[in-house]
Amino acid sequence: MWEQIVKDLKTKGVQLVAVSKTKPKEAILQIYEKGQRIFGENYVQELVQKYNELPKDIDWHLIGHLQRNKVKYIIPFIKMIHSVDSLELLQTIQDLAKKNERMVDVLLQIKIATEETKTGMSFSVAEKISTEYLEEWTHVRIRGVMGMASLSDDTEVTRKEFRLLKSYFDSLENHFVKNKLDYFSEICMGISDDYLIGIEEGATMVRIGSLIFGKR
Ligand SMILES: *Cc1c(COP(=O)(O)O)cnc(C)c1O
Repeated sequence: MWEQIVKDLKTKGVQLVAVSKTKPKEAILQIYEKGQRIFGENYVQELVQKYNELPKDIDWHLIGHLQRNKVKYIIPFIKMIHSVDSLELLQTIQDLAKKNERMVDVLLQIKIATEETKTGMSFSVAEKISTEYLEEWTHVRIRGVMGMASLSDDTEVTRKEFRLLKSYFDSLENHFVKNKLDYFSEICMGISDDYLIGIEEGATMVRIGSLIFGKR
């Protein structure tokens, strides 16, 4: 399973975030030993503990909802934060990254699902962040966008939502290109159930948990 997924993503040029939430460090080490270096976690406390106990060349990505008062725990080591869902959160990350003399990669999580439970900022906030506030971001690099599709058995619903995220990416990208910023390049969409649709619709990065680690 693992080998097949990795081979497939490699030929397609898509980055894999191995989602290891709730899984013990032994399970992570098994995948690490096969060469995987990017791992995604949802909960700050669990992430900090795993960071302390596991090899230091792992790139840790936070993919779950992040409260502003918890940014300080991960800022010294986090590689990428996928779940930036408000202007205020991004400003907190910027302030603390500056204090820590770090550059932190982030994705703007934009709401594409119709369900109330799926978080994310509106496209208009993402646009503000990428235009009138753009000069504020001296210690965060906005690398792209992230989105979660609705829970649905209808693949056309999923496809439509991913297509929407791709269109958001395209219009935001214009602002970065205009400012000669070439790092805005990532579209992170797709989990175990729908990553193939994500890739068909333009994902550059997918977040896969249960397909690699087994059910949670
Ligand atoms: C848990 C989680 C995933 C992985 O989901 P799987 O179905 O296990 O692949 C991806 N993205 C987010 C935001 C998650 O919370």
